[in-house]
Amino acid sequence: MLERQGRLLSPDEIKAVSRTEPNLFPPRAVFAFGQRDEAPSLDEGFKTLERVEFSRRDEGFTNRGIICDLDGTVRTSRPAPFPRRPEEIRILPNRSETLKRYAADGWLLLGVTNQAGVAMGMLSELDVIDCITRTVELLDVEMDVRYCPHRAGGTHCWCRKPMPGLGVQLIREYQLDRAQCIFVGDRKSDGEFARNVGFQYQVQADFFGA
Ligand SMILES: [Mg+2]
Repeated sequence: MLERQGRLLSPDEIKAVSRTEPNLFPPRAVFAFGQRDEAPSLDEGFKTLERVEFSRRDEGFTNRGIICDLDGTVRTSRPAPFPRRPEEIRILPNRSETLKRYAADGWLLLGVTNQAGVAMGMLSELDVIDCITRTVELLDVEMDVRYCPHRAGGTHCWCRKPMPGLGVQLIREYQLDRAQCIFVGDRKSDGEFARNVGFQYQVQADFFGA
């Protein structure tokens, strides 16, 4: 993961690093390679081929967390797809009660949200932070929420779901045992994010029962 002082690099910073460090590939290149990659075969001239299955390294972390998407999962600002001002936010039913029960049981509460409106010039990062602060206040729980401000469409950064960047950052900072953690979301890309990071996945309506 490309990080500087514990912070994921922005798309521009990734490009700059890739220029000076030829062995670092930006997320777009890694993604494109994965899409086009063909399995090698011996008739291409390889002496031997060895297949190594992907396996996750056990970090030895033991903490459990409930990690939530925000828009459409814990809050709504309908008819707008995401809030631009804190007063547009309404918390969906049974969210606060459910999260409080998990917190009382020792689970950490965390959040990951895509906020591409920033890159589209529809709101500022300060607006995003104000809206996150209000959301956590209304939920009335302690919850650390991370956001991706980059644009949608294509793979530009490591932090926009379904890319795993923010999940990996939370695992390291909070020493999470990823297999025990549950990510709760409302979109197909949320399920892909959970799979990429190694979290369990639950759809918001099932998890919150409402
Ligand atoms: Mg959502």
